[in-house]
Amino acid sequence: MTVSKLIIFSAPSGAGKTTIVRHLLAKYPEKLAFSVSATTRPKRPHEIDGKDYYFISLEEFQRRAAAGEFLEYEQVYKGVFYGTLKSEVETLRQNGKHVIFDVDVVGGLNIKRHYRDLALAIFVKAPSLEELEKRLLQRNTESEEKRRERLEKARREMQYADKFDFILVNDSLPTALKEAEELFEYFISKCQTMVLK
Ligand code: ADP
Ligand code: 5GP
Repeated sequence: MTVSKLIIFSAPSGAGKTTIVRHLLAKYPEKLAFSVSATTRPKRPHEIDGKDYYFISLEEFQRRAAAGEFLEYEQVYKGVFYGTLKSEVETLRQNGKHVIFDVDVVGGLNIKRHYRDLALAIFVKAPSLEELEKRLLQRNTESEEKRRERLEKARREMQYADKFDFILVNDSLPTALKEAEELFEYFISKCQTMVLK
């Protein structure tokens, strides 16, 4: 029987984790499924409810948190909550998929702590903070104030990189995508005794 594993991508906002996660999902549609998180942030125009996130109200988020429905959750930005639903992860695992996560740095480490050897935690790093700022500017999804908040958080998050299983530097995108594929293939094919010991 295939053991369903967990591949966690965490990074400061703008480092490129969503780009990498989307690439892996497109490349391995049979093997991988995305853990859709719940969030209280407003939906961006191109986003789809239930596909990118479950967009819920703060009241609903708080109710579900109190009911213990989250594997982990956090106030990632001021007044904005994000969380991984236990039901989401377990349903995907029962369907025999490996589960891929796009979560912030603290959330990623919490999921790793919970699943231990079943999980691979990857920290995606932009080559520099200047480049990170440039990417956020180009993506153009946040106001100036929100972009500042994300850059401030990025400075703090860099300190957690060493706690991850692997640091993936996203400088040249094709190289980073190839490296992500190699990491994924190695991790899911790795001898299961490590998982079962
Ligand atoms: P994150 O999910 O970590 O916030 P994104 O995947 O949304 O980051 O990437 C941020 C922006 O940077 C996007 O506009 C994306 O197209 C771009 N980007 C991603 N990787 C690279 C790269 N290696 N070089 C240049 N731009 C990149
Ligand atoms: P965005 O608003 O740009 O989609 O995401 C903001 C940040 O929240 C990103 O770093 C993203 O990875 C993180 N995030 C998304 N879902 C979750 C989650 O379920 N838990 C945690 N802790 N962070 C999340």
